[in-house]
Amino acid sequence: MDNELRIVLQRESRRLLDTGQVDVILGFARSDVPWSMQPIFVFTRDDCVKLDISSFCYQNLAVYLPRIQGRVGIIAKPCDVRTIVQMVNENQVSRKKVKILSFRCPGMLDPEKLKAKGVPESELATVSSKDHPDALTDWCKACFHREPPDADFVGEPRFLFGKNEYPRPSDATILADELEKKSLKERRDFWLEEFKRCIRCKACMKSCPIYYGGGDPLDKTEFSTPLNTPAENFRAHLSFVASLAGRCTMCGACESACPVDIRLMGLHIPVYRKTQKTFNGFEPGLAPETYSPYMKPEPMPAESE
Ligand code: SF4
Ligand code: SF4
Ligand code: SF4
Repeated sequence: MDNELRIVLQRESRRLLDTGQVDVILGFARSDVPWSMQPIFVFTRDDCVKLDISSFCYQNLAVYLPRIQGRVGIIAKPCDVRTIVQMVNENQVSRKKVKILSFRCPGMLDPEKLKAKGVPESELATVSSKDHPDALTDWCKACFHREPPDADFVGEPRFLFGKNEYPRPSDATILADELEKKSLKERRDFWLEEFKRCIRCKACMKSCPIYYGGGDPLDKTEFSTPLNTPAENFRAHLSFVASLAGRCTMCGACESACPVDIRLMGLHIPVYRKTQKTFNGFEPGLAPETYSPYMKPEPMPAESE
């Protein structure tokens, strides 16, 4: 990513805090773990200097929004903004309490692809999709919405792909295409093999801002038995995917959180496509007051300003 974008996001964050429009800024900071960023909560203008942006901001920070009391500014990628729009549409978050700082998105990069190319860790701060379009993450390659559908501030990075320049297809769309041609049994066998690796950490479910699981936003448990079997792991994740039908915004946070690289987007993509096909091209999180065609939102609890 680039330094200018980092500086303008810091500047806008200071402005929001200085003018009392928000109580806290939720953003990204450099992490001790190589090739990754971590969430940070910033309460003072002096600490805004810790806010950072890079090509490794995989997390969808909207996952924290329902737990934050007061007014919050959030640094969000366009796909994260789509989940915020979706959360507002589902009455999980009040738009009045959130200031969205976003940017037109050049895409996030996959560290494994960069390492395979011999890119050193020292380039973490500056490496971008301009120099390494072949190292885009899989979900970024599949992305068609690289501008935020709603924002209070939109930053411009130095580099953006032109309309028809984005490297496609992604491995996940290729996988989804391949699986579509297979029989139900072959598809099931593929996923049972994949879910043999699942360690039931639930990182995928916990990383998704719009997965409410069993109703407890801190747990999000969906496993019905303590037995760790591929069939039960597959079933639990199917339940996860099904509950996101017409709501998943393809941010990729769930797949990037999986420590054993289970290809979860290969499950989300067919549902996304089917929803588009069935409901007149519907895509979630692109406009206010649009709901999943499969559900109606619960009314918002009475707000305290
Ligand atoms: S999925 Fe799209 S909006 Fe999200 S990080 Fe990738 S390119 Fe950006
Ligand atoms: S299911 Fe995954 S890709 Fe879809 S919105 Fe949730 S975290 Fe993002
Ligand atoms: S993140 Fe990966 S390992 Fe953890 S529960 Fe989800 S699929 Fe299984």
